[in-house]
Amino acid sequence: MKAKLIEIVDENPTVKTLIFEIDQEISYGPGQFIMFVFPQGEKTIRRAYSISSWKKQPTNQVSITLNHVPDGEFSTILFNSKINEEFEINGPHGKFKLNNSDKPAIFIAAGTGITPLMSMIESLEHKEREMTLIYSVKTENDIIFKEKINRLSKNRLRFIPTLTQENIEGWKNGRIDQELISESISHPVEVYICGMPEFVKSVKEHLISFKMDEKDIHTEQW
Ligand SMILES: Cc1cc2nc3c(=O)[nH]c(=O)nc-3n(C[C@H](O)[C@H](O)[C@H](O)COP(=O)(O)OP(=O)(O)OC[C@H]3O[C@@H](n4cnc5c(N)ncnc54)[C@H](O)[C@@H]3O)c2cc1C
Repeated sequence: MKAKLIEIVDENPTVKTLIFEIDQEISYGPGQFIMFVFPQGEKTIRRAYSISSWKKQPTNQVSITLNHVPDGEFSTILFNSKINEEFEINGPHGKFKLNNSDKPAIFIAAGTGITPLMSMIESLEHKEREMTLIYSVKTENDIIFKEKINRLSKNRLRFIPTLTQENIEGWKNGRIDQELISESISHPVEVYICGMPEFVKSVKEHLISFKMDEKDIHTEQW
C-alpha cells in the first residue's frame, strides 16, 4: 500500500506525529502497528510503528508517533519527511490489541511506549469501560499527547503521570514501583504495558508480585 504524508504534528522537540493517507481502506485493532518498507540502495529497510490514534473503521488514514533516534537509520528519514511524500507500508500487524472486556483497563507506558496505548484509550472514549493511564516520563515536557490526555482526563480517563527527573508539587516522582501500583490499581483489572524491554519487564514483575494473573497482562516492547 502507498501512504502519503498529509499532516505533521510536533509533539516535542524529538517526537512527531505523522498522519498518512493510504491508497486503500484498512481496518485495524487498537494497539496494532504498520510496517514501513523502504528500499535503500541494495537493501530494504523494514521498521514497525504502532498506530497512535483511533479512527472509525475501516479508514484510509493512519497516524504514527515517532521518536527521532540519534543516528537511527529510518527514524531520521521519517522525522525529516515532508508533506506529500509517499512511503510503502503494509499491515496492520500485531497481537497487542485491546480485548473486549468489562474489567477496568490500566494502561502503563514509558516515553513513546504510549503510542499504541493512545489508540486503545481513544477507542474507549465513548464506551463505559473504566480506564487509567500510568505514564512515566523524565519531565513534564516529555509527555506526548498532552492536549489529548488533558481532554480525555476531563472526561473518563484517570491520568497518573510520574516524573523521573523533575519534581512538581502534587505529581508522583520516580519509576513505576510496587507502591505506585498498589495505590493506583485494585483487582480485577486488565493491564496493557508498552515501553522499552527493561521497563516492561520491571512493571510486569511488580504486577505479578501484586498477585495479578499473567493472562490479564498484555505487553509490547521495542
Ligand atoms: C511493534 C513495534 C512497534 C513500534 N512502534 C514504534 C512507535 O510507535 N514509535 C517509535 O518511535 N518507534 C517504534 N518502534 C521502533 C521502530 O520500529 C524503530 O526501531 C525505531 O524508529 C528506530 O529505527 P531506526 O532505523 O531509526 O534506528 P536504527 O538505525 O535501527 O538504530 C537503532 C539503534 O541502534 C543504534 N545503531 C544503529 N546502527 C548501529 C551500528 N552500526 N552500531 C551500533 N549502534 C547502531 C542507533 O544509534 C540506535 O540507537 C516500534 C518497534 C516495534 C517492533
